[in-house]
Amino acid sequence: MVIGRNRNAQLIINEDAIYSNVNAEIQRLDQQTEMFMVVKANAYGHGAVQVARLAKLAGATGFCVAILDEAIQLREAGFVDEPILVLGLTDIEDLPLIVKYNIDVTVSSVSWLKQANRVFEDLKLKNKIKIFLALDTGMGRIGLQSSAEVTEFLDFVNQNANNLILDGVFTHFATADEHNHDYFDFQYQNFKNLMQCFKTKPRYVSVANSATSLWHQVTGANMIRYGVAAYGLNPSGQELIAPIKLNPAMSLTTELVYVKKVNPGRSIGYGATYSIDKAQWIGTVPVGYADGIWRSMQGFKVLIDGQLCPIVGRVCMDQFMVRLPYEMQPGAEVVIVGKQGTQTITLQQVADQCHTIHYEIACGFTERLPRVYK
Ligand code: PLP
Repeated sequence: MVIGRNRNAQLIINEDAIYSNVNAEIQRLDQQTEMFMVVKANAYGHGAVQVARLAKLAGATGFCVAILDEAIQLREAGFVDEPILVLGLTDIEDLPLIVKYNIDVTVSSVSWLKQANRVFEDLKLKNKIKIFLALDTGMGRIGLQSSAEVTEFLDFVNQNANNLILDGVFTHFATADEHNHDYFDFQYQNFKNLMQCFKTKPRYVSVANSATSLWHQVTGANMIRYGVAAYGLNPSGQELIAPIKLNPAMSLTTELVYVKKVNPGRSIGYGATYSIDKAQWIGTVPVGYADGIWRSMQGFKVLIDGQLCPIVGRVCMDQFMVRLPYEMQPGAEVVIVGKQGTQTITLQQVADQCHTIHYEIACGFTERLPRVYK
């Protein structure tokens, strides 16, 4: 997809917001706890390389991504010497790349480890394979579940210490962003039980995503994997109040490209779902679902000239229409997310409209929208 540089539509990323969000959480951590900034999925849509640079300045000492390509992108940016952990699973065939780029990989099975060890020896790779063990304490996604498996895993690492380094161990909570702590406590207990298999702890022990770090007291860990809150978004949506101010970093602005009066009897957009019963001013906005504006945004109000103007008719691939309270001029700023005058539209409001979570909205803005850093 090309980047739409010659169209007035952009995601504006507030660098100070990211810096201060990261820094504020680091200030709350105890001295031996480090923050790995989670920059997967292009830093939740905010731009991985730029966000990593800011996070490093603000005190992050490592990075987490989801897939190997994201890790390579960061290393190739040239300024990241810190650990980069791939949180998802990687293919054995990629071991040469993993080692070449000095990436930490998540391991979720003893069989993967055995194969990796064999490939390491067959290919006579020079640098050791750096691994994090994933523990499945109740998320049900990846990771070892039983003490027997963990013990077998640790024994194998110890026996092959020339090829493998266990850099860390982590688990992931499913309900850290909820009022009710029962399932969190269940997972935490499972984690503590599994950790008893370790005679010596690896360099990094990590249990916390944003929600865990913000709302839970845990002991025995020394690294957090901080994602969504660093972008100024409340991990719980609206369920819990964050103990620190979270400054939203992302805005989406564009402009009116066309304005006309539409007479009764006509309709707006595909399917003619919005009928004009009395003459109205209708504006056209040059973004659509190919930019990540969901079709379920129909009815949502965007800001133009300080007025909340509803999206009328179906959102098209590249354009949508709005009802204007009076004649406005083409070129007028349209704010879909962010501030205009005294009013603000949040990603949470967009997510509510689309019956989803703000994570999905932020990640869903496509490459066609340029990211502008301010
Ligand atoms: N750790 C793991 C394993 C994850 O999958 C994620 C995100 O999905 C995170 C950390 C970061 O979570 P959050 O963005 O809620 O801080």
